[in-house]
Amino acid sequence: METDLFIAGKWVPASSGARFDVLDPATGDTIASVADGGEAEAIAAVEAAAAAGPGWASTPPRVRSEVLRKAFELMTDRASELAKLISLENGKALVDAKGEVTYAAEFFRWFAEEAVRGDGAIATAPSGANRILVVRQPVGVCVLVTPWNFPAAMATRKIGPALAAGCTVILKPASDTPLTALAMAAILAEAGVPEGVVNVVPSRSSGRVVSAMLRDARVRKLSFTGSTEVGRILLAQAAENVVNTSMELGGNAPFVVFADADLDAAVDGAMIAKMRNGGEACTAANRFFVEAPVADEFAQRLAQRMSALVVGPGTDEKTQVGPLVNEDTVAKVDELVRGALDGGAEAVTGGSRPDGPGFYYPPTVLTGVPADAPILRQEIFGPVAPIVTFTGEAEAVRLANDTEYGLVAYVYTGDLARGLRVSEAIEAGMVGINRGLVSDPAAPFGGVKQSGIGREGGHDGLLEYLESKYIAVDW
Ligand code: NAP
Repeated sequence: METDLFIAGKWVPASSGARFDVLDPATGDTIASVADGGEAEAIAAVEAAAAAGPGWASTPPRVRSEVLRKAFELMTDRASELAKLISLENGKALVDAKGEVTYAAEFFRWFAEEAVRGDGAIATAPSGANRILVVRQPVGVCVLVTPWNFPAAMATRKIGPALAAGCTVILKPASDTPLTALAMAAILAEAGVPEGVVNVVPSRSSGRVVSAMLRDARVRKLSFTGSTEVGRILLAQAAENVVNTSMELGGNAPFVVFADADLDAAVDGAMIAKMRNGGEACTAANRFFVEAPVADEFAQRLAQRMSALVVGPGTDEKTQVGPLVNEDTVAKVDELVRGALDGGAEAVTGGSRPDGPGFYYPPTVLTGVPADAPILRQEIFGPVAPIVTFTGEAEAVRLANDTEYGLVAYVYTGDLARGLRVSEAIEAGMVGINRGLVSDPAAPFGGVKQSGIGREGGHDGLLEYLESKYIAVDW
């Protein structure tokens, strides 16, 4: 496959000649070397995107739509090879990688459909003096920065709406997983995306490369998915040129189980909310709050299911939980678990890092986790479920909201009125009631508080790439 940068429709090396290695998380071995984009390539990509902008913005929406539809079909045809690539560079189990390809391709299909649903508004001014005409126009050149945990889906969730809206883009993928992004560039080119409309610049100097683009006044939009820490830095940089921003940041999802819940359903939902992607998801259930009468039983049943999972290389068909993406991630999970155990928690299953090669951590369930444990404050980003017991609705809501994050929450109860009441009281952009999975290309995905600004997916996702222009008309 291509391993150079993709700029202005061509595969080009870095001008410095620099390359960087991509590792297999199952072994730590090098699997590929990729061109290492620098500031010069970042600016060349902005140049290409700016040059392609007017042509793409004036391309009929139906044509833009058909290009995206074609990209959806190509991704679907190549789902199994793309899944292997994702699994190889990210480590996730093939079953998760296949799920990601389906989810990722769906953003192209959804936004192919949205591309032709452009809207606007016309009204009479209250004074009666004129008409208020509102038209929507593409924001312009967009810088898209994506994380490693969903290397295909986080890219298509941004490229789909940007292209549908008539914007041109530069994608800066995570340096742990650049291969999937390059494969996406090849698919988009084959689908008929004109040169310069999509550019992909992998880099090991992400800070410098993204800053250089944000300093370029031709860039009008930054859409970032990643940690809150980096999001804050980029928001400050975007302020310099007053760049439009969408921020999909970290999460610390509460998973609340009331005593009246269907416990089988709650354990099934917990397995999805916790273990999808091996726990490396911003939507991963991070804190389990279980009402006292059912807490022991829930912990035992969850531990039984977690301990039965097959851990191994992601590319092995039998594997259900692959290695984590890199050494830093597995070391952080290990430290958080140790902190909880030192504070008095008990590991019902798992709880210690195995010896041997690869970045593995076993599925783990902790009970008796102290309220001040860092594991309840920080994103775990691994296969660990800390359980805390509560009594009553008010305490559940207080515990759920006791975090700086507000991406998603899960609530299990047999009482729908309670489910809705608690959903409204929880500070989160999304809530799953009796459901462990909320992500859907047709729904607005995003967070409140320090989990972000803006929404991706649904109709809202398209609006993030459009400006409303008001024209006062007297006729
Ligand atoms: P990260 O460290 O914030 O990195 C995200 C992206 O930003 C990568 O492409 C990274 O490049 C780049 N980057 C890092 N430092 C930068 C800087 N100073 N300036 C510009 N770009 C910079 O996050 P991650 O570890 O890849 O991903 C995990 C995080 O993403 C978690 O917090 C998770 O919750 C969040 N996430 C959120 C959502 C959501 O929708 N809310 C979805 C998925 C993931 P390098 O790879 O080169 O460092």
